Amino acid sequence: MNPSVRSLAEVVSCLSGYDPDAVPVADAQRIIADFITPIDCIEQLALRSALGRVLARDIISPIDVPSHDNSAMDGYALRSADLGDAAVTLAVAGTAYAGRAHAGSVAPGQCVRIMTGAVMPPECDTVIPQEFTLHATQLHITVPAGAVRSGDNRRFRGEDLRIGQAALCKGRILRPADLGLLASLGIAEVPVQRRLRVAFFSTGDELRSIGQPLDEGCVYDSNRYTLHGMLTRLGCDLIDMGVVKDDPDSLEAALRHACENADAIITSGGVSVGAADYTRDIMARLGDVSFWKIGMRPGRPMAFGQISSNGQSAFLFGLPGNPVAVMVTFYFFARQALLHMMGADASAPPLMRARSTAAIRKKPGRTEYQRGILSTDSDGCQQVRITGAQGSGILRSMVEANCMVVLHDAQGSVAAGDLVDVMLFDGLT
Ligand code: AMP
Ligand code: MG
Repeated sequence: MNPSVRSLAEVVSCLSGYDPDAVPVADAQRIIADFITPIDCIEQLALRSALGRVLARDIISPIDVPSHDNSAMDGYALRSADLGDAAVTLAVAGTAYAGRAHAGSVAPGQCVRIMTGAVMPPECDTVIPQEFTLHATQLHITVPAGAVRSGDNRRFRGEDLRIGQAALCKGRILRPADLGLLASLGIAEVPVQRRLRVAFFSTGDELRSIGQPLDEGCVYDSNRYTLHGMLTRLGCDLIDMGVVKDDPDSLEAALRHACENADAIITSGGVSVGAADYTRDIMARLGDVSFWKIGMRPGRPMAFGQISSNGQSAFLFGLPGNPVAVMVTFYFFARQALLHMMGADASAPPLMRARSTAAIRKKPGRTEYQRGILSTDSDGCQQVRITGAQGSGILRSMVEANCMVVLHDAQGSVAAGDLVDVMLFDGLT
């Protein structure tokens, strides 16, 4: 990973009133965005393998799509000059199939039976859908007055894409429609950014991995599994480093190993007050890391920066330990930064408005991310209810939710019936 060109102190100096013990969400997001540098390493992939990958160059269309004027309907291609104020009867001169054009010409008073996608005979400019015709036989059709207007149901050459036009732009995360579009241009391979390598581990003496006995006072490590899921969905290459004990030597060794093998490191736990003392020392020794208290709930403590070991560097996201906090800080800080590192041109997922079914207590001066269930009420409007207990350790609240209710920094308590912003967990991709 290339070292960041600016220090965190330089990035932070652009913000007024910066206080690491009270960082508004938007400021933390901005510092991260300004500090991160994208990877730049391109590989060429076959079209199917490129799904979900980040396009590394603009794709210019080598052809017009469609390559001919063609019919949008099954019906009859005709010359609109033949139409008048009364019904007209036209002679059927032949048939145009998709992939097999009508061979002859079309004289005035004639039409051609035409299938969807078939090339328009050059003399014709309009298609009347089959069901609008009267008395259709093999030889004649009657077009009722006013049944079609000139140019109806004709698709133009190049109306989807013109030759030389940018079909897809660099930075795009390729979706199913993009693969189809590229295929429609006859493109078999595309340049994409290599996958981002992300190392992650959990910290905590109380953590046990699945398969180990759950000793008194211990918990199973769940964060590595939520992180595995979230990182996999982003399309990262994962280096799962397991659980690291709360001791300085283990932490330093893990951070160095991660740094030497990955572009980004995500840790969970050990950044809250009390736990953070030696973490702070080690991270400070290895690089340029800030410890923040963010004005948010859940997910207040977080470390961010860049560390180096043996000439290799990596960006570091030290997320809190609580299972909900780790997901919220991932979604609202790490996700966007990792996409940026991948070279993706990705804006934050959109917020939508929904009516809160109940009152929600909230103090101005911090951003709250409550877990919600969005549904449609009997009038067809979106409504949202909170999943119940919102403790940052209650992972069930994330499981039950289908969205996050975002209560912004300046916002106070919400009354039942008020509109609130929500961010959906799942979309059509
Ligand atoms: P910490 O930030 O290390 O003080 O952890 C805060 C809380 O989150 C503690 O109750 C931890 O037991 C819990 N916790 C930390 N890491 C994990 C993890 N990987 N899986 C489940 N719980 C965790
Ligand atoms: Mg801990």
